Parts: sequence; C-alpha cells; structure tokens
Amino acid sequence: MKYPELKDKISALNERFRNADSFNILHSLSNEFPDLTLVSSFGAEAAVLLHLVSRVDPNTPVVFIDTGKLFKETLDYKNTLQKEFGLTNIKIFEPDPEIINKHDPLGIAHMTQPDSCCFFRKTKPLSRALQNITIWLSGRKRYQSLSRANIQLFELSDMRIKVNPLADWTIEDIRKYRTKYNLPAHPLLKDNFLSIGCMPCTTAVKDGEDQRSGRWRGQDKIECGIHSNAP
Ligand code: SF4
Repeated sequence: MKYPELKDKISALNERFRNADSFNILHSLSNEFPDLTLVSSFGAEAAVLLHLVSRVDPNTPVVFIDTGKLFKETLDYKNTLQKEFGLTNIKIFEPDPEIINKHDPLGIAHMTQPDSCCFFRKTKPLSRALQNITIWLSGRKRYQSLSRANIQLFELSDMRIKVNPLADWTIEDIRKYRTKYNLPAHPLLKDNFLSIGCMPCTTAVKDGEDQRSGRWRGQDKIECGIHSNAP
C-alpha cells in the first residue's frame, strides 16, 4: 500500500474504532488482518495485552526481541505467561551475532553508544521480525510518560499500521484487569520496576516519578527507537 493510501486507511481505522473497547478492536482486527502480530517485551504491564490477545486467538503471532541484555526474570516471565495464557506462536528474534561481534564484542555498547546498542539489539531484529507484516500491536499507553501522552489508537510506523489498543487505558484500568483475571505479575514489579527493558538500562522507580523514569536513568534517551513512527 502506498503512503497516501495507508495514511487514509489509518485515519479511517481511528474513526471506525474511536469508541470501541480493546477486546472488540482486537477481535475485529484479528478477523480482518491475517498477519496481525503482537510485539511484546514481556515487561511490567505486558500481561494485559498478551491476555487480551490470547482470549481472541492464542495462536496470534507474538514477537519477542531477546536483546541478550534482558533480566533473567523477564525470560522466566515469558515462559510463565506463555504457559498460563496458552500462547502457541511466540517468535523470538535476537541480534545478528556478526553485528554484535563487530560493534559490541565486549557487550558494553549500552554505556558508550546506547542509541547504536538499541539499534542493533532491538530495532534491527524488530525490522527482521516485521519484514512481511502490515499491522502490529504495541502495548503503549498515554499515561506512561509525556512522550506517549498523544499516541493514537492507530498510527503509521515504517509504512506499517501500528495499533495501540490500550492507548487510553489508565493505571487503574490496568490494575482492575490484572485483578479480574488474576494475571501473574512480573517478578520485578514488587521491587518497583514499573517499566522493564534491558538489565543495564533499567532501574526501579521512586515514589512520584513517572513510570518510565527508571529507563536510561541519567541520560537524555527516553525511547529505544522502535517507536519512532517514521513513515
Ligand atoms: S536498552 Fe540498553 S542494553 Fe538494551 S539495547 Fe538499548 S542500550 Fe542496549
């Protein structure tokens, strides 16, 4: 699909699903787009969208980028949710070992060049994962940070449709859903890790801080690059 056509399609989807609830959005999209794919970090709040998707179709493809720098707790949590929700189509993508050997042989690029590190450990594997995909789901919410305050339900991203089915959910909505379905919590949540990415770039959040303030603490960096939303 060409750029103007895709842009019109996204506007039409935003209009059509403006007042729909997340389950119905996912149900409709699952019927209409056979390549609908969820990208999940299996982080602090990932269980909600993973659970919603499993209720619609547990065989929905779920892309998980294992950067090689994740917490062991996250890898264990992935296995727990996979089993509990009956997810049958999780696809794991990793950085290209040749690129890692060339650009980060000591595994310290997160300290010296974090943008490059995110590029070859996250963005590149995600591009590979989404190569033939036209539409994907992200778990971003508006309340998470100022930089996410204006995200739309449907967005254009790298000439694909990106869907944020939880865009307008509040923290309280997330809490209620987790309680209602008794969803397992990420093991690091109890230690106040409210947004969980790679181990070297994630810290606990203090009272009153915004939810993503523990990511790349002390740096200007606020996103890893996979949500740049370039056409
Ligand atoms: S979050 Fe940190 S360790 Fe992970 S890819 Fe980005 S810079 Fe590298």
